[in-house]
Amino acid sequence: MAGIVVVFDFDKTILDVDSDNWVVDELGATAVFDQLLDTMPWNILMDRMMTELHLKGKTIDNIAQVLKKVPIHPQIITAVKAAHASGCDLRIVSDANYFFIETVLEHFGIGECFSEINTNPSFVDKEGRLRISRHHDFPHGCKLCPPNMCKGLIIERIQREVTVKKMIYLGDGAGDYCPSLRLKAEDYMMPRKNFPVWELICENRDIVKAEIHEWSDGDEFARILLQLIHEISREDHNDNDDDDDDENISIKDVDCGTTSRLFTVECNNFSTSAMPVHEALPQTLPVAVPVRF
Ligand SMILES: [Mg+2]
Ligand SMILES: [Zn+2]
Repeated sequence: MAGIVVVFDFDKTILDVDSDNWVVDELGATAVFDQLLDTMPWNILMDRMMTELHLKGKTIDNIAQVLKKVPIHPQIITAVKAAHASGCDLRIVSDANYFFIETVLEHFGIGECFSEINTNPSFVDKEGRLRISRHHDFPHGCKLCPPNMCKGLIIERIQREVTVKKMIYLGDGAGDYCPSLRLKAEDYMMPRKNFPVWELICENRDIVKAEIHEWSDGDEFARILLQLIHEISREDHNDNDDDDDDENISIKDVDCGTTSRLFTVECNNFSTSAMPVHEALPQTLPVAVPVRF
């Protein structure tokens, strides 16, 4: 119904931390990780770290156990459930891997809320070691994104599939900047304030066409997301009322009683310029390498 696709990044968006760092740190492999960090792309490093953990005697079950302890704000779980209950189409776009994401979502009881998990494939090999591969083949043609995944290409594919829907995108990292440029004027971008994607958008805000709503923590994530869903649904309801009084469903399932009162947008000087996206794309990301997308 609601005519809304909500796309979530995973690390530092749904989760409060980065799941890759969380697993490495919790299983005592931080020193090896730090040693290798500058020597290879992140995605290849994480596959290598799974081998390092395997050599240390850590099993797939040990990895699953630490993933189940990962910090996640309770309001984010509530918001995901409410958005799903309201009829929104929820999808994950993440540079983590399928095993990590599925384990966490299932553990917190929100796995069923998502229609799609777009991430790096993973599997357990015959020695019991988790292997992580790439989502996209390289070269994928995007200079903004890491070699293993362009989230913008995923957004374009979703846009082709669901042409009549509005999109809300939530993310924190530099890898969420490319997809933010693919959003249309009727879409919404929710960057995490003071995180890399927010900084990139602030530096290049004239080329982001979507309406920007920043958030800082789980409370704001939930409040602003549910408020946007409520407002979009109400607009759709009103539009549909003009045409047909019977054929629409309002977003009754989402309790927005507290959201409208507290809803604020601090960064209200974002423009929604209609400049063509590719005219002013930076050739490289203005962030230091190595970078966690
Ligand atoms: Mg992230
Ligand atoms: Zn890209």
